[in-house]
Amino acid sequence: LSFHGDESGVIATNDDASESKRSCVKLGYYQDDYLQNFVKISEKKAPEINRGYYARVKGIEICIEKFLKKTGDKCQIINLGCGFDTLYWRLRDAGHNITNFVELDFPTVTAKKCYQIKRYKVLLDKIHLEDGEIRFSPTDLHATNYHIVGVDLRSIDEVANKLKQSDVDFNLPTIFLAECVLVYIETANCNNLLKWLSSNFHSAAFINYEQVNMNDRFGDVMLNNLRARGCNLAGVEACLSLDTQISRFVQCGWTGARSWDMCQIYDSLPMSERHRIEKIEMLDEGELLIQLFQHYCITVAWNGELFQDIEITVE
Ligand code: SAM
Repeated sequence: LSFHGDESGVIATNDDASESKRSCVKLGYYQDDYLQNFVKISEKKAPEINRGYYARVKGIEICIEKFLKKTGDKCQIINLGCGFDTLYWRLRDAGHNITNFVELDFPTVTAKKCYQIKRYKVLLDKIHLEDGEIRFSPTDLHATNYHIVGVDLRSIDEVANKLKQSDVDFNLPTIFLAECVLVYIETANCNNLLKWLSSNFHSAAFINYEQVNMNDRFGDVMLNNLRARGCNLAGVEACLSLDTQISRFVQCGWTGARSWDMCQIYDSLPMSERHRIEKIEMLDEGELLIQLFQHYCITVAWNGELFQDIEITVE
């Protein structure tokens, strides 16, 4: 295990994701008024990349909204490998004020995120609730219902400790989110984490977005690309098929799971939205987008009764 190895390659994937999302937002694929405070560079990405990120962000948003419909705002969201994700602020703008929102990433990443939050009033105002105080360290921030903590997700003790510091309530319905994160974690460590979560959170859902169908030629190209940029794809075993995505959750004690590739997720987005974004940029070749969509998926796992009949309708 490269537990204390060089993490710079994996950490850099966050810059890539954030820049790509920024590119999308700039072109009008979707609205995010906060991302610009975390990423300055906005090099224009290829149309296929923009559409891919659009589908990723919208797909996850739809899942989150479905779960929030079930729980109301009395729940927790725990964002694993959060990077510069702005979901907390976007949910606030959508009128949600959920009980607790916790973000975890390597300390190098959370330090940067904390720094920007402190620096921009527009970010700080939304986490600064009346009467609430905010506690900062260079890598962690604790407010009334928003926490960000620096941690290596491979260390369960550290994760448990940081969640405790973030006032996490094991009895409250909890939604976990991992967006392109688990693939970078060694299979054994990832399984330990998923097992620990399923045995400690009895009313929980897990939304996982990441690579799938990695054992074909296009998958090989994607993996080699990431490896060339210094990423250790230590968790790729679970990314072989939709079935391996599902079974790893079930084997780690989750009650059930479902998985869809991004072709299915994209087709389930409202037609008016698809028509709108398809007019933003012409695709050079539609085949590449289909290939990309076939190689990413959203898996939803659940634990306990509250979430068991959840349907992420895919037409
Ligand atoms: N979820 C964000 C998004 O989609 O915009 C960031 C995605 S980025 C591709 C992967 C993130 O996972 C990086 O920020 C990286 O630092 C984090 N990560 C990967 N392995 C981790 C670990 N063992 N502990 C903590 N964070 C980790």
